[in-house]
Formats: sequence, structure tokens, C-alpha cells
Amino acid sequence: MGSWQDPDRNNDSVGARPCIITIAVTGSMPRKRDNPAVPVTVSEQIESTHAAFEAGATVAHLHVRNDDETPSSDPAKFAKLLEGLPRHCPGLIVQFSTGGRSGKGSERGTMLSLEPDMASLATGSCNFPNMIYENPPALIRELAALMRKHCVKPEIEVFDLSLRRPTRQAPTCPVRVGGEERDAGRQGGAYLSGFGAPPSNADGHMDCGWHCGRHQLEVNRWALQLGGHCRTGLEDNVRWDRDMLAPSNAALVTRVAELCATVRRRLATVSEARALLALPPA
Ligand code: ZN
Repeated sequence: MGSWQDPDRNNDSVGARPCIITIAVTGSMPRKRDNPAVPVTVSEQIESTHAAFEAGATVAHLHVRNDDETPSSDPAKFAKLLEGLPRHCPGLIVQFSTGGRSGKGSERGTMLSLEPDMASLATGSCNFPNMIYENPPALIRELAALMRKHCVKPEIEVFDLSLRRPTRQAPTCPVRVGGEERDAGRQGGAYLSGFGAPPSNADGHMDCGWHCGRHQLEVNRWALQLGGHCRTGLEDNVRWDRDMLAPSNAALVTRVAELCATVRRRLATVSEARALLALPPA
């Protein structure tokens, strides 16, 4: 990845780069009492993801919940998502969360054997507002090894700038093309998910879906101007603005799609998103 000041990353080439929008559908934190539009059951998640897909999202980042809305890592629920989503959203890139709020230790990776297109991978520990987000090296290696085994492309979760470089734990990812496993090499290495940083810190991180809480829209705009990609969704932000709750995941995607147009970027099709992420065609 080059700096955004590279000659081949000038405004023209930025404008030519289609934008991948990731919809973070549910997350592990927001509840219906925070925003009634948060989809919780698998059928609500499929319906909400479908609407977001129609609005232009090409990657869906998914957590699952228990019936009482608490976070879960139940592989049966992930399996139902993987069964239902492709029927409603052909070509959609399905990304499961292995995040730490949804399970403990190895439990976090039990759904990887279902072979989703992608899964999130936190490559270090950091502080959340009221807890330590623990990702010990042995667990990172275990989750990364499972991703390699099942040809699941990792998305590195950059909660902190120290986590922003793909690590030794997940340098590259094999992809399966026509039943044959290939190492996608450097270009097919991990995709980063950035949780907000000033543009000077975003240098060289085009292949990253930038987002974060209440500054999400502003970070989305920076990312678009730099040629990067965007993430949005009720997981990251249940609000539309200071006064209003976000009406739906689809509305959040539509807002980012409109932002794309203002910086003369266009949305990636599912085929383009798969090619950009070195994933096999659907
Ligand atoms: Zn998540």
C-alpha cells in the first residue's frame, strides 16, 4: 500500500476507485432500547442486511445475539445467516465477527468452520471505555490459523494505531478458486478496519474501511477523499445526528452512498468488491 501522496494515488485515480461500503448490521452492544431499528433475531438481521445491500453495501459485518439480545457466538445462528443471506443478497461478502464481547477464548472462532468469506481479527489488546479488550497472542494465532485453514479472509480490526499493520499472525490469506487453494499473496493480505484517525495517520491505508462512533460520517468522508472504503451501520452508531436516531441500516448506507457521489466516487459492485479484496467470485 502506498502513501496517498503517491503519484498513482492522485485525485484522478482516487475518483476511479470504486468504494466498498461495509454494513455493520448489529454488533454486540446496541439494544432495541437504544434504537428499535437494531436487528436482533436472524430473520431481522437478514431483512436489514438485504435492505442495506439494495442501498449499496457489498460487505456485511455480522454478530449474532441470544433471544434476550445479549451477545452470542452460537454457530447455529451464524449458519442460518450464511444460509439466508446469499439467497436475498447474491454476491454479498459475508464477514463474521470473532470479537471478544461475543464469547470467550476459542469459542470466538467456532463459526469459522462455516467458511464465511471473511472474519474480523483483532491483532492486539487495548482498552475499551470500561474494560480491557483482551486478545492474547496465542488466541490471535489460533483464530488466524483457523482462518487460513478454512480460507476465511481476515479483516484486521484497528482499534488502536499500534494495531494498524497486518501482523505476523495474519500476513496473507489463502483463497479458494474453483476448489483449488491459492495463496493470495501480499495483495490478498488482510483488509483493515480502521476506527477513526486523522488523515495524516491514514496515509497509506487505502485498503481500509474507516469508521467510528459519533464521528463516523466525518471519517467516512476522509476515507472517500483518500481513496479508501467506508463502514457504517447500527453496530457503530445508533444515531443519525445529535437529535435523531438512525432510521435503519439501509438509511445509513444510503447516506454514505450519497457522500460517495459528492467526492465523485462510485460504489463498488459485488464483483468489484470481491476483486478488490482478492476474494473469489460469488
Ligand atoms: Zn463488530
